[in-house]
Amino acid sequence: MQKRGIKEARLVLKEVYGYSDFRLGQKQVIEQVLQGEDTLAIMPTGSGKSLCYQIPALVSEGITLVISPLISLMKDQVDALAQLGVKGTYINSTLTKKEEMNRLENLAAGVYNLVYVAPERLQHPTFMNSLQKIEISNVAIDEAHCLSEWGHDFRPSYMQIPNWLSTLTKRPTVLALTATATDEVKEDLRKHLQIPVDNVVSTGYKRDNLSLTLFKGVDRPYYLKQLLNQKQGQSGIIYATTRKEVESLYQTILKLGFSVTYYHGGLSEGIRQENQEAFINDQKLIMIATNAFGMGVDKSNVQFIIHYQLPRTIEAYYQEAGRAGRDGEESECILFFSPQDIRTQQFLIEQSEASEERKQQEYGNLQKMVSYCHTELCLQSYILRYFGDEEVSDCGKCNNCLNENEQIERTIEAQKVFSCIKRVRERFGKTIIAQILVGSSNQKLRQFQLEQLPTYGLMKEWTIKELGSFIDYLSAEQYIKPTNSGYPTLQLTNKAINVLKGEEKVYQRIVKIKSEVKIDDEVF
Ligand code: ADP
Repeated sequence: MQKRGIKEARLVLKEVYGYSDFRLGQKQVIEQVLQGEDTLAIMPTGSGKSLCYQIPALVSEGITLVISPLISLMKDQVDALAQLGVKGTYINSTLTKKEEMNRLENLAAGVYNLVYVAPERLQHPTFMNSLQKIEISNVAIDEAHCLSEWGHDFRPSYMQIPNWLSTLTKRPTVLALTATATDEVKEDLRKHLQIPVDNVVSTGYKRDNLSLTLFKGVDRPYYLKQLLNQKQGQSGIIYATTRKEVESLYQTILKLGFSVTYYHGGLSEGIRQENQEAFINDQKLIMIATNAFGMGVDKSNVQFIIHYQLPRTIEAYYQEAGRAGRDGEESECILFFSPQDIRTQQFLIEQSEASEERKQQEYGNLQKMVSYCHTELCLQSYILRYFGDEEVSDCGKCNNCLNENEQIERTIEAQKVFSCIKRVRERFGKTIIAQILVGSSNQKLRQFQLEQLPTYGLMKEWTIKELGSFIDYLSAEQYIKPTNSGYPTLQLTNKAINVLKGEEKVYQRIVKIKSEVKIDDEVF
């Protein structure tokens, strides 16, 4: 068999795909795969990872098996290949028995260059039997980080892959692909798939067309509304942590008259598929979803991603944010941070069935995500360093780089809040503290004789909502530590004590929304 190389690959790039040049990393990965070198490719979202296995599939003999986690997308991928005249198929649970048999026969007859399957297929006896009869030259493992327990999206079914590879008499060339792998995950993947260290191709994580914005301790519904008004006509995804939050945001945004749909794991397969398609085909411009949505979704014109709550890890955040601007257009990724999000995530980790070791790891990852919300350095650089990129320069367009934040001195107001928390011996939560300070009158305050406190009514000119946001800001800046001892309470940190002693000043950095518009505040 004549060995084919990069020359043929370049020809396919031009003639089949119509592209004149390889993108960064593609040539090296394709060359390695064509030489039979197992490879781990770490390339950002939208950088063209699919071509790294599709082109070798077209220039080599034999079949390329593509293992991908999401069966709902396989049809689109295969249809797109058919448009280019490439013979591919998928075999998964959406097929009728008859269609599955049909495809297996074609597979054995060598009709296809590429076959997409989910990792679970590697346990199906009929499928495994069919594989015995054919030559698999390459195996591409998409979203390979799912194989690592240290990754943010571990899927036990991925563990079948190394087991299965070890049973083969003739080992195919393995190409693992991912957009996000910390050093730990990278090592784990290399170990499981036995990929030599020199065969890792990493093009870095930088996405030049993304600008990152962070809103801390702000009135989220109001900011969200402002943002959506500015982004009229644009397509975007809003991520929320829980299914309940997704549904409630969906109702609200729908009422505001936006073109919106939603997605989470609690919906039926049919509805999920329908809503996903409506978004991909631009029938609906905004998708509101939990993290169940998005992996592998190839929609090139997503112009913004909003995280309405804090994601659990930097990997998850960057993976989700990275779904914006796959077409190379300037896109915006906005993260809202409020300290109660930390508690929600901690609660979810605590409730999960993970091992104690894994939970500790997750708390650590969460802490790094929280630290992102406190950095004053370039946001993009913070993320790139987290992933191990060494040479990073400031992006020049995140809100830390732009330094557009307005700074207002709030030392006196902060002292009032801190002394109130101290007065009640750190036994109450945000709402009660705010009620005491604005001088509300209610049963609970009477019951605990909180109306007698010297701090009662000390901030009468504030509304409960404004004060709530300010307390969130102080928590976000780590002056206050929200804790949960049966019910949420606020505690002061050393930073706050220094402010009370007059040794430190408090400045509130307010991130301005560009071109704020006046809108009816009734709907939220
Ligand atoms: P990834 O899987 O890395 O997120 P894709 O493989 O989906 O990215 O590619 C993103 C887009 O870039 C696709 O529309 C693809 O056709 C396009 N693309 C890939 N390689 C090239 C190239 N060499 N030149 C131009 N466009 C490319």
